[in-house]
Amino acid sequence: MGVLLKIFIPLLGLALAFYFYSAPENFSEEMLRGKRVIVTGASSGIGEQMAYHLARMEAHLLLTARTEAKLQKVVEQCLKLGAASAHYVSGSMEDTTFPEVVVKEAENTWGGLDMLILNHIGYTYFNYFNGDVGHIRKLLEINFLSYVAMTTSALPMLKESEGSIVVVSSMAGKTGAPFSAPYSATKFALDGFFSSLRQEFIIDKVNISVTLCILGYINTENAVRVVSHAMRDTPAPKEECALEIIKSGVLRRRELHYPSQAVGSLLLLRGIAPDFLDSLIRSNYKVENIRR
Ligand code: NAP
Repeated sequence: MGVLLKIFIPLLGLALAFYFYSAPENFSEEMLRGKRVIVTGASSGIGEQMAYHLARMEAHLLLTARTEAKLQKVVEQCLKLGAASAHYVSGSMEDTTFPEVVVKEAENTWGGLDMLILNHIGYTYFNYFNGDVGHIRKLLEINFLSYVAMTTSALPMLKESEGSIVVVSSMAGKTGAPFSAPYSATKFALDGFFSSLRQEFIIDKVNISVTLCILGYINTENAVRVVSHAMRDTPAPKEECALEIIKSGVLRRRELHYPSQAVGSLLLLRGIAPDFLDSLIRSNYKVENIRR
């Protein structure tokens, strides 16, 4: 199966890349200059890298996560890199009042908002489903309901600016992967809610773009620590991933698939051969390394 995966995925990926991405890229860094952007989960990983790219592009930044000491350092670095301004609000998205606090801070500081990048995730286990329903409830609050709450609070400002919502999701939010049932559930929920919202915006002639980012395995410290013992894949670079997310948001794309060949091919297979896709996914795990 591993050999099949190695031959099949690149071929299909090339065909897809040609089909979907042959249109010229119109991105330029000036598109972000002076834009007012919220990035959640910005104290580490992909969120931190997005903050640095946006800073170089001279955006105004409001960053959030729980760990104040890390956010302070990221803000300092953003100012050094050229951010038009950079602030943070620390708190947990498990607290149902916090999403509105963050959006209010943007309103008080800037009086408007151009881009809302929803990226944070709460801690979960990487193992067989352990029957803990309470954990799924808590994870839904952090990974899903807080995204809905932030979007709801930010809608008036985004309508005014004809801005963008960028939702960071995963292959696990499009197709079932083992050992991540709680996480996968929260990511599927994002697709349902935000794809429905996109439809309503079009019907209502609301000019807010919704970009759903479907990511494969990325080399952030946390992801590598949690899953590397059981994955055959090599993770893709977080810096490039962060830049692709920003580009797809500002270009108002419907979805980002990153890395594009691997994710694009797997998504195509989902429609035409779901059982084959499931077996390809399973073959990518070193199941013997998962201890219950
Ligand atoms: P990460 O490095 O673990 O960063 C997660 C961020 O969320 C941190 O800033 C963390 O900061 C914050 N956070 C954690 N719990 C929180 C809470 N209760 N309230 C508010 N913020 C909280 O994650 P990542 O690997 O960069 O992933 C970023 C996004 O990419 C996620 O949406 C993830 O699902 C998606 N993705 C990642 C991969 C991958 O392989 N890395 C693959 C597919 C999709 P504090 O701890 O300071 O709060």
